[in-house]
Amino acid sequence: MPTTEIPIVPMLIGGQWLRPATAEYGPVHNPSRGELIARTPMGGPSEVDAAAQAAQKAFVTWSNTPPTKRAGVLFKYRSLLEEHFEELAKIVTLENGKTLDEARGDVRRGLEVVELACGIGELAKGQSLPRVAEQIDGVTMREPIGVCAGITPFNFPAMVGMWMYPIAIACGNTFILKPSEKVPLTANRLAELFLEAGLPEGVINVVHGGRAVVDALCTHPGIAAVSFVGSTRVAEHVYVLGTQHGKRVQAAGGAKNVLVVMPDAEPDSTLRAVMGAAYGCAGQRCMAGSILMGVGESASGVRKRVAEAIDGLKVADTSADPGAQMGPVIDAGAKERILSYLEAGQKEGAQLVRDGRKLPASLAGAGYFVGPTLFDDVQPGMKLAQDEIFGPVLSMMRPKTLEEALEWANRSPYGNGASIFTTSGKHAREFSLGIRCGMIGVNVGVPAPMALFSFSGWGRSFFGDLHVQGNEGVMFYTRQKVVLSRWDSAYQRTQGW
Ligand code: NAD
Repeated sequence: MPTTEIPIVPMLIGGQWLRPATAEYGPVHNPSRGELIARTPMGGPSEVDAAAQAAQKAFVTWSNTPPTKRAGVLFKYRSLLEEHFEELAKIVTLENGKTLDEARGDVRRGLEVVELACGIGELAKGQSLPRVAEQIDGVTMREPIGVCAGITPFNFPAMVGMWMYPIAIACGNTFILKPSEKVPLTANRLAELFLEAGLPEGVINVVHGGRAVVDALCTHPGIAAVSFVGSTRVAEHVYVLGTQHGKRVQAAGGAKNVLVVMPDAEPDSTLRAVMGAAYGCAGQRCMAGSILMGVGESASGVRKRVAEAIDGLKVADTSADPGAQMGPVIDAGAKERILSYLEAGQKEGAQLVRDGRKLPASLAGAGYFVGPTLFDDVQPGMKLAQDEIFGPVLSMMRPKTLEEALEWANRSPYGNGASIFTTSGKHAREFSLGIRCGMIGVNVGVPAPMALFSFSGWGRSFFGDLHVQGNEGVMFYTRQKVVLSRWDSAYQRTQGW
C-alpha cells in the first residue's frame, strides 16, 4: 500500500478526535506479516498542553459528580466492553500479534478492573471515629487528585491502560492516556467506547507519540500524577522526571522471572504452566518465566519434556490462523534484539537445546517471528541469566538445592515474579518467604494478580510506593483529608441504649 493510503491514528482531546499536523509518524504493523496498517502521529508538548487544559476543565464537573453517578457510567462501559469483546480482541491481535486467545485474556483482565471500579462508592469510602478526643469527632475522606496521566507499553494494549484509567476516573479524576505508539488502535477504541458509555468530554483524552509526549506529561504543571508501565530504563526516567516536577508517580518496569521446579512437582500441570509462562505472548510479558531452575534430579526430566512440548507448539500468523499457539514478536527491532541473545548465549557456552531461528517454511520471510527457544547449562553470570530478553527464550539452570535456587534468583536486581512447582508445603513456604520479589506463584506459572490485588513489583521492577490496580490504585488516585470536628456539648450518655 502506498504510504498515503495508510490511515493516520487520531488523538482524543476534549471529546474531539483530531489529527494534529505532526512532523513525524510511527509505524503500526501487523507483526504476523510485517505489513504497515496505520501511522501514529508523534505528538509533543502542544498536544499534551491541549489535553491537560481539556482535562482540567472537565475535572471541575466530574470531581463534583457523585460516585454513584460515576459508577453508572462505568457499569455502562462494562456492558459495552462485553458487547464489543471479540472486536477488541481482534484489534489487539492485529496490532500486537498475540494469539486471539491471549488477546481475549488481555481484554478480560482489563475489563475486570472496570468491574472493580464500578464499586468505587465502597472502595473510596473514608473512616470515622466519634469522640477521638474530648468533644472531638474524626473523619477521613478521600478526594480525587486532579488530572492524571498514564503511559503504557506495547505488550498488553488493552489491559495495562485499564489498570489505570478506570480507577482514576472512578475516583473523580480526569485522565490523559499515552499508549505505546506501536499499538495505538486498541487504546483509541477503548476510549471511544467509554465516550459512548456517557463519559463527559475531556474526562478521558488520548495523546499519541513517544518520548516528547512522555516528557511533556512528566513536566506539565497541570498534571498531578503519572502512572507508567514499560521498560526499567524508561520507568526510572519517568519516576525521576515526574517526581522532580512535584508529581505523584508509580512506574512499573522490566523483569527477569524464575520458575523453580522441585523434584516432587506434579509433572503434567507443571509442564503446562512452564510452557504458558515461557512462551505465552511469545515471551513478551513482564511476568514471563525467563529462567527455568530444575532443582536436583528434576532437571533432566523437565528439560526433556519442555523440549518435546516445544516441538508440538504451533507458531503461526495469528491474524489468519485461529489455531496459532504462539505468534510473532512486536517488530523487526525486537526480533533482532532477541536473536542477539541466542548468539550471546552460544558464545558464553550455554547449550542451545531448541533454536528459535529454525522456523517452519510457511513463516520464512513473513512477519517478525522467533520460534520457542530453550537453553540449558546457563550459569548465573551469563547474560541469559541476567537480562530481560522479552522474547520466547527460556534459560535453564540446574541448582542442586532450593537454597541454591533462591540464592541465584535473589541476585537479580529485578523483583516482579517468581514461581515454585512442588507438592511440598514446606518447600512452597520456604520459597515464598525467601524469594525477593513482589508476586509469587505456587504451582502457578504467571502469578499476575487480578484486579482485586495490586500489581506488586519490587526492586528495579517498580519505582514508587503505591502500585497499580486494587486498593493501592484507589489510594494512588486519591488523597486523604482528615476532618476533626469539635461541637462543644454537655451531652453524656447516662444509661445504656
Ligand atoms: P518501553 O519502555 O520501550 O515503552 C513504554 C512506554 O514508554 C511507551 O509508551 C513508549 O512510547 C515510551 N517510551 C519509550 N522510550 C522512551 C524514552 N526514551 N523516553 C520516554 N518515553 C519512552 O517498553 P515497551 O517495549 O513498550 O514494553 C516492554 C517493557 O515493558 C518490558 O520491559 C516489560 O517488562 C515492561 N512491562 C512491565 C510491566 C509491569 O507491570 N512491570 C507490564 C508490562 C510490560
